[in-house]
Amino acid sequence: CPFRADGRLPVASPMTHAPVVLILILLQQSLAAGAWLLASSFLRVSPRPIRHWAAASGLVAGGLVLYASTGQVPTVLTHDVANVLITLSFIVLRRGLQVFLRLPVTDRQHLTLAGLTVGLALWGWALESGAAEASLLSILVATAGPAGCLAVLVHEARGPLRREFGRRPAMVVLAVWCLVAVAFMARFVAALLWPAQAAQPVGVDTLFNTVLVMALMVGGLALHLMLALLVILRLALKLRHLSRHDVLTGLPNRRLMQEEIAAAWSRHARHGEPCALLAVDIDHFKRVNDRHGHGVGDDALVHVGRTLREALRSDDCVARMGGEEFCVLLRSCSAGEAERQAERLRAAVAGAPLQLADGQSLTLTVSIGVAMAPGAAEPELLMAQADGALYAAKHAGRDR
Ligand code: GH3
Ligand code: MG
Ligand code: MG
Repeated sequence: CPFRADGRLPVASPMTHAPVVLILILLQQSLAAGAWLLASSFLRVSPRPIRHWAAASGLVAGGLVLYASTGQVPTVLTHDVANVLITLSFIVLRRGLQVFLRLPVTDRQHLTLAGLTVGLALWGWALESGAAEASLLSILVATAGPAGCLAVLVHEARGPLRREFGRRPAMVVLAVWCLVAVAFMARFVAALLWPAQAAQPVGVDTLFNTVLVMALMVGGLALHLMLALLVILRLALKLRHLSRHDVLTGLPNRRLMQEEIAAAWSRHARHGEPCALLAVDIDHFKRVNDRHGHGVGDDALVHVGRTLREALRSDDCVARMGGEEFCVLLRSCSAGEAERQAERLRAAVAGAPLQLADGQSLTLTVSIGVAMAPGAAEPELLMAQADGALYAAKHAGRDR
């Protein structure tokens, strides 16, 4: 009962609130489990990893319920089983991240660690309860597993995180994992330094336990925030890619090309670096649709896009601007080189007919207009000049 005999609330000691904080983390982890379950059904982004993280939160919540039941259920539950649940939650968390980052799933390692944890817990339980070795073993179970899981995770996820999300977001996530791993190891060291304090079950209200459960609360929250950050970043990167690429050919679209042209233009304005813009249009494409149908028309667009891409250097950019029109940006390129490159592209398309399903082949040709910076007053004019040159090529008979 929280009330004193005189009916007033007792004044709690300001530093020892372990059971209260324990209940708060329990709520936090239950909320995290529910939120991840909702996210997996609504977002439809990475549902498998998210289900792992919901399960990990559920396991932590289970462990915390047992910690909080100190004095009401046998110690084997409040100590040993609770510690095993916490370690299992980190195994499940790591497995979810392996799935999320498309790393090899190391189930044999997970099973070994889970077996080792259960074995150590059983050993501690078999030792006389209250013995110093038993208490140390139980703390080892509760700390080495989680810290080990996070340490190998940092090692195995470092590269994939950097590649997918960039250096800075990866550093933040890895730093949080390292800090939580260090906090778990610090608990083990603290248990060596203050064995009598550490021997108290986590649910018992002591300063040692208050610090411990507060660290658990902050660490648990930080881990889940990092997971949410990764899911949101992946979603944002996916949307960014979709908004800047053409669905049919997979090439950059008009929006991305405009950004590339603006960047090339500012390099030209600042450093005098020349660049060329090529407007490319498939000749008589309407006839392809009319004669062979839209399906073959689509295949032809993909085919021409691929042929252009393969004929270019890797730092040149080719985009589908819409319909059967493409655009090529050649960086650090003189007028003579641009003309030769345009001729190479024209020959590449004309020389690579599309093989049709009925065994026939369909020869496609393109007309290309070239514009240069220097030569135009602003980026929009560069595009207009390339278009003007393209129409001149059309009027002069196409395929040129
Ligand atoms: P020109 O040599 O003068 O460029 O003649 P054209 O027939 O290529 O040009 P026109 O602008 O008359 O026709 C372009 C056609 O491209 C019309 C349209 O149906 C077709 N088209 C545009 N987008 C797509 C697409 O995504 N898929 C398919 N299959 N056809 C498309
Ligand atoms: Mg055309
Ligand atoms: Mg056209």
